[in-house]
Amino acid sequence: MADSEMKRGLAQVMYRFGPESLFDYGRRGLSMKVSRWETNKISSLDANYVAEQIATHASSFRNDDEDPWVDLTVDDVDFRRPNRVVGSLYPLTMYCQNRSCHRVVSKKEPSHFVYTNGECPECSDELRQLAFVLVHDCGNMMSINPQPCSNPDHGYDHIYLNKQNINDPLSWHFYCGECGDFCGNMSKRCTKCHKERVYFRPIASNSVYYSQGDVLVNLPIDQRYSDDIEYGESWARILMAAHLGDLDDVVEEEGKTYEELGRMTTDERDAKRREKQIEDLKEEVGAEQVEKMIESGVDIEDVFDVAEDTIKGSTREEVVEENRERVKLPSQRGGDSDVDQAYSTLSHELFTYLRSTQGYEGNLDATDGMERQPTPLSLDGLLEQEDFLESNPEAEVYPEKLQKVNIASAWVVDNLPLLNYTFGFTRDRPERSRTDLQPFPHPRGEDSTPVYVDQTPSEAIVLQVDRSAIIEWLDEKGALRGVERPDTDDESDLKEWFLENVDTNELRDHYSPIEDDLTREVYTLLHSMSHALMRTASGQCGLDSNSISEYVMPSVPAIFLYASSTEHFSLGGMHTLFKTRIHPWVDETIADVQQCVYDPVCEHEDGACHACLHMSEVACESANGNLDRRYLVGGDRGRIPAFWESGYV
Ligand SMILES: [Zn+2]
Ligand SMILES: [Zn+2]
Ligand SMILES: [Zn+2]
Ligand SMILES: [Zn+2]
Repeated sequence: MADSEMKRGLAQVMYRFGPESLFDYGRRGLSMKVSRWETNKISSLDANYVAEQIATHASSFRNDDEDPWVDLTVDDVDFRRPNRVVGSLYPLTMYCQNRSCHRVVSKKEPSHFVYTNGECPECSDELRQLAFVLVHDCGNMMSINPQPCSNPDHGYDHIYLNKQNINDPLSWHFYCGECGDFCGNMSKRCTKCHKERVYFRPIASNSVYYSQGDVLVNLPIDQRYSDDIEYGESWARILMAAHLGDLDDVVEEEGKTYEELGRMTTDERDAKRREKQIEDLKEEVGAEQVEKMIESGVDIEDVFDVAEDTIKGSTREEVVEENRERVKLPSQRGGDSDVDQAYSTLSHELFTYLRSTQGYEGNLDATDGMERQPTPLSLDGLLEQEDFLESNPEAEVYPEKLQKVNIASAWVVDNLPLLNYTFGFTRDRPERSRTDLQPFPHPRGEDSTPVYVDQTPSEAIVLQVDRSAIIEWLDEKGALRGVERPDTDDESDLKEWFLENVDTNELRDHYSPIEDDLTREVYTLLHSMSHALMRTASGQCGLDSNSISEYVMPSVPAIFLYASSTEHFSLGGMHTLFKTRIHPWVDETIADVQQCVYDPVCEHEDGACHACLHMSEVACESANGNLDRRYLVGGDRGRIPAFWESGYV
């Protein structure tokens, strides 16, 4: 009954068998606790962004002001991939299943049960676990075990369970069989926070463990350069410049990748490296010793080898400076202190979009760990394949079809790197604001906070929405009052307009309302489109409707629909849809969104409900908020123009 091994799919493990969760070990009819995960360290991910996402999640729990969640940064996090789950017997109270016996055996450690052989010491009948545990919203979990008899001669030696009223565990209690002394019942005070008396829960109850995590698209940064990139504003501006087409020459002619363009200059890199080396040395020999060395005039630089191989010149600075002149983000204008957050969100959005639609710009052969780069196929590229058109002549009208729903370009993307991650757990209740988020214990006892990740390749359809159609629609809706209209014939000007007017900071926390009117209009429009298309996509590509997720990119603007199944991947579905089903997909979507079975109520109230636009929680990125069918088909007595009307095409 010691540690046991099980084999399960990783995605399933991530959600259901996190450290400190309970599970049934079916073969032996036992309940066990996941005592630890064996893991490997992971480095090929956009760690900065994931750490920020975790910090955002953590901020909605009750203990957001406590360690390790307060001021969590990428330096506090250790990313690991689980490869083996180790479980041990739990809870640790057993009783004899013989009704006339009910002798109790309770131990402190699972290994203490080895000698009992699963048999009652009294009558040799089978021992059975007490199938209840105590959980508290502070994150604590306790076995229900008896107290010793007050007579020291009896101690734990004669404890029995009184289960008189079998259907009412609340009445169950332990007693000493020698003297009848009461030895505890089915509740006790929380041993961790000492705040409350905690009552039993069946071990199979959901409330015993809530895994906390998320899924996101996370493209790997070229590992050769990742340490040299200056993140924050500089990285965001490189990507904005790339998006606006300002870097086309450098990327195409000089064959530079975005990572190369984002690298620090030699001086900056050396300074940063030295700073880190001094920190490392302090850790090794103590801060005082290092200060002394510096004071006594030892040239600290001699101690380290300062690398020579960094890029020379200041391409990055020129690009950044130029872009700084060109693009002012909404958070910059408002004096918003969270402008760093905007750079980070935008970097993630643009990097994902650029690589997913253009592919990796560098030489893939020269890199390792690059097999996770997405490989796109554009609709235009597909239509250039003559043998494809021969066998799928209807595909010729795909661009026209997509124009009906104002989609200007489309791609199907292979190897879209999805990242499942879990950063902790809660117990007792589902509400974040009423529970303490528990970090996982570090698998190697280190100081950092482990975050478990699973990277899986997926596939997606990327839809870039017609920018000028959005502008025309916003204008007709009256949403552009006081906002400058871009030149709708100039694609670069249009792109800039979205960067300058969509406030990504408003979209960070998908649970609070979007206050900026223009951002809300654009997001609601794209989000409604996304749901309308998601709801009909599953039927066309053979994926379960919960297996498709969305990533709405309002700054681009684009919609990602990706296969997100955590159970069994059925890859290929998105390809089938893209290559052979766009026709019926668009037709069905347009037809479906016209009405709802709850009309006229749905139409006159929110324009979205579970019968028309809502998706399950796992599929939607923002808990079904900011959705409105009328944005697509028109409504509210003419006040909302229809985006999917041919007038904007
Ligand atoms: Zn017995
Ligand atoms: Zn407690
Ligand atoms: Zn409805
Ligand atoms: Zn959604």
